[in-house]
Amino acid sequence: MAVTIGILKEYDDQRVSLVPKSAEKLIAKGASIIVEARAGEQASFADQLYTDVGVKIADRATVIQQADVLLCIYPPEPTERKQLPQGKTLVSQFKPYFDHEVISQLQEQGLHAFSLDMIPRTTLAQRMDVLSSMASIAGYQAVLAASRALPRFFPMMITAAGSIKPAKILVLGAGVAGLQAIATAKRLGAMVEAFDVRAAAKEEVQSLGARFVEVEGATDDTAAGGYAVEQTEEYRRRQAETIQAHAKQADVIITTAQLRGRKAPILVEAATVEQMRPGAVIVDLAASTGGNCALTQDEKTIVHQGVTIMGYSDLSKDMPQNASELFSNNLFNFLELLVIDGEWTIDLSNEIISNTFITITGSAEEE
Ligand code: NAD
Repeated sequence: MAVTIGILKEYDDQRVSLVPKSAEKLIAKGASIIVEARAGEQASFADQLYTDVGVKIADRATVIQQADVLLCIYPPEPTERKQLPQGKTLVSQFKPYFDHEVISQLQEQGLHAFSLDMIPRTTLAQRMDVLSSMASIAGYQAVLAASRALPRFFPMMITAAGSIKPAKILVLGAGVAGLQAIATAKRLGAMVEAFDVRAAAKEEVQSLGARFVEVEGATDDTAAGGYAVEQTEEYRRRQAETIQAHAKQADVIITTAQLRGRKAPILVEAATVEQMRPGAVIVDLAASTGGNCALTQDEKTIVHQGVTIMGYSDLSKDMPQNASELFSNNLFNFLELLVIDGEWTIDLSNEIISNTFITITGSAEEE
């Protein structure tokens, strides 16, 4: 029987998981789609755009009741999740690496779940990788947020009233978010330097025209599949000294460093913040996993001795239209593996499916 896919409205988030264009493509693959009323409104996708492509509009309770598969960027809150009928499938981001209870809770409730944050970092899966898409937007947004909070220009300015030096930006962690932050800060005319523990990052940083901050002696990460690995005590000490020296000179620090399944490394100590210039800004994109700055408070902006510290990991939320489009493209590419001739078909021999189908594989615990 043809699968019915439901799109839920996010709580406290302007994005929507599937935009009309992707819904239309899924309908062409034989699925029926039902969307919660006004789910896409804040991302510029009015209900009419969904009905135009053949999607049914309904209230939340009807979507939950009628859909076999429910799509959402973040899972329903625990109280609502407990009321979901058994046998439903959820496709969302459950963060099983951090929420160690979630898999067993879903299993006990008789729910099936695919966790998009478990999509492997392989070439084949790249077009489904919601983490990368959202990280890229967050990197861009972090620079814009910093530029608004900084009481100075980013570019060099030569005016009749005097000349202004370009702002110095230090990006810590040069993965997807960090590289986008570097590119954005360069476009705004800042002087940019960046640091990452992964050996491959140096060339990428330099290709964007930024200076790479060197710390010798990082642990070999060639077998880590693009993830950073834990570093030795000695390396961490040298890294802290180097970062401290560069941080003191920086107008803005953007931090993005993550360690999969673990607390983010502290790269900017409180003492370093206290030596930064008055008016300096830190945007900590690792805030939700503990933060890269010792003083970061998740989901808050604080000012410590004249330095503004913004702790926001999910800045892609603030660009809801493009964020929804990219998330939706990734999600469609993933759902294409599961909707075959209109039917929900699970092929566990596919690595992308077996990695993400958390209620079957429990893959977060096994790895
Ligand atoms: P991430 O979010 O896991 O981490 C962000 C960055 O922080 C990484 O570059 C990491 O090396 C760095 N970091 C960790 N600890 C650090 C420390 N102590 N000091 C400084 N930096 C530290 O990573 P990401 O941005 O998602 O991606 C990292 C790499 O993996 C990139 O090269 C990216 O292109 C690649 N990637 C590939 C795929 C794919 O092929 N499907 C998907 C996602 C990412």
